[in-house]
Amino acid sequence: MAVKKIFRDYLKDDIKEVRRIHSAIKRYNRIAIFRHIMPDYDALGCQFGLATWLKDNFPEKEIVVLGDNHVTFTPRLYPETDSLSESWFREPFLAIVLDVNSPSRIADPRYKKAKFKIIIDHHPAEGEKHANVQIIKTEAAAAAENILAILLNFKGNYVLSKKAASYFYSAIVGDSGRFQYSSTSKLTFACATECLDAGIEISKIYQQMYLKKIDDLKVTAYILNHFSVSDHGVAYYVLPTNIQEELNITTERGKENVNLFANIEGINAWCSITEDKKDNCWRVSLRSKEKPINQVAMMFEGGGHAQASGAKLNSIDDLPKLIAALDKLF
Ligand code: AMP
Repeated sequence: MAVKKIFRDYLKDDIKEVRRIHSAIKRYNRIAIFRHIMPDYDALGCQFGLATWLKDNFPEKEIVVLGDNHVTFTPRLYPETDSLSESWFREPFLAIVLDVNSPSRIADPRYKKAKFKIIIDHHPAEGEKHANVQIIKTEAAAAAENILAILLNFKGNYVLSKKAASYFYSAIVGDSGRFQYSSTSKLTFACATECLDAGIEISKIYQQMYLKKIDDLKVTAYILNHFSVSDHGVAYYVLPTNIQEELNITTERGKENVNLFANIEGINAWCSITEDKKDNCWRVSLRSKEKPINQVAMMFEGGGHAQASGAKLNSIDDLPKLIAALDKLF
């Protein structure tokens, strides 16, 4: 009972939007679910969690999941996304955009063709409102918490299946750093409780998410042998294309080791810098122990959360500027 109250209280000021989302879902027979580019556990877990929930509760509706497949998470953790021809988008459909609100970061621009658009996110709102209904609550550690809270506030007899709950759980574990980050709250644990009630197998999910290969240890070894730490406790590692080739990893995987530097005395912030030949830039993943680093991310064409942000450098010559900007915080 106490858990249900957490969900009710959390959305008490958003209940009109919750009702509008509920009625849009009931109204549309064709629903497409979108998320951000370069997806992570939260983006994919939200998409497949919601798609599964909708299929379980509205089996007569057509539910599709859009955006490219993840290079390592598919099909180990999440199924393949749908490929649709342009003609699919000519008939009326509802777009539900998850874990993103900035138009330039939505993985498939065809969300714009939707008759009705819903955004559910936990990233700070960027720019003008461009959806018919949006619930953006940055206090959630994962976007999946906002989605679960919304679904659990719908009036009706709905089921949360083990499969849907397993996807949502992976999303929450991913974005809360396994319930470690300061964004972890009683809402996070209330969501985990609901997922456990649905029968999820926690150890199986963790194994699927975090199982490593022996070769992955070589990547970690390289990073431990080559990282730098600035005067003010900013740790960073750089992975140019030739090193990615040598280590046999894709660009998407460059950030995988960034949290090696969490919980190290004297390290206040840490980042990975990975060359992206395709986009002709260097992708930056920024993390911080306490101080918000998203303002610095915004200075380098990025953004995100206070303690976890993304950015990019157009040239590696800009790296000293990035480190200096972070150094200034500490
Ligand atoms: P990453 O380092 O790519 O794992 O990103 C960390 C967090 O920052 C994720 O929640 C991303 O969705 C978010 N993020 C990354 N890049 C941007 C950006 N350019 N604008 C806004 N949020 C971002």
